[in-house]
Amino acid sequence: MMAIDIEYAYKILHRLRSAFPKVQVELETDPFRGLILAILSQNTRDTYAYTAYRSLEERIGLSIEDILKADEESIAEAIRSAGLQREKAKRLKEAAKFIAGMGGSLKSILDLPLDEARAKLMEIEGIGRKTADVILLFYGGKPVIPVDTHVRRVSARLGLTGRGIGYEEIRRGLESLYKPEDYMDVHLLLIALGRSYCRSRKPRCSLCPVNDICPSRT
Ligand code: SF4
Repeated sequence: MMAIDIEYAYKILHRLRSAFPKVQVELETDPFRGLILAILSQNTRDTYAYTAYRSLEERIGLSIEDILKADEESIAEAIRSAGLQREKAKRLKEAAKFIAGMGGSLKSILDLPLDEARAKLMEIEGIGRKTADVILLFYGGKPVIPVDTHVRRVSARLGLTGRGIGYEEIRRGLESLYKPEDYMDVHLLLIALGRSYCRSRKPRCSLCPVNDICPSRT
């Protein structure tokens, strides 16, 4: 693997900012809605998750109270398009119960120091590292780079992180290369690159905006 240096890491970031100038995420105003979306997005495509989210909004509602009041079966039916609807309905109920038990606001968790907030979120059944980190970055403004399947694959191919290493090593490795104010862009842009060019199968290297500096170009 090539030596990873900050200059190389930033060269990639600058290229990706130019290649994907409009990449951004539309945040929900209520962090609990963000948590709902993060749960619905697990193991599925964003479009299916958004369809389920809109259906949930219409049929059940998106507040903690709405989720607490509804029965699991009705929630599962409303979010069917996201797949794994029974598990996800259970997770939504668990999340609502947990946050209600914390005083009814996700903000009370997000205001904790990073490691504490992360540990607290991961106490919710079905909330793993990635989902917790997405909530912490997007809604808590915490300095963390969530590692999804695209971030994992693309950062390894680019040589920003090693191959075959675990979530925490990848996250810490990326965080050591970039300034905290760039973490959101790093997360979003590596995903954009993974979706558009650096696909799991048959990466489109000849069209990729970083193909002249990528050590894995084919
Ligand atoms: S050159 Fe190929 S392997 Fe490298 S980042 Fe681009 S698509 Fe991925």
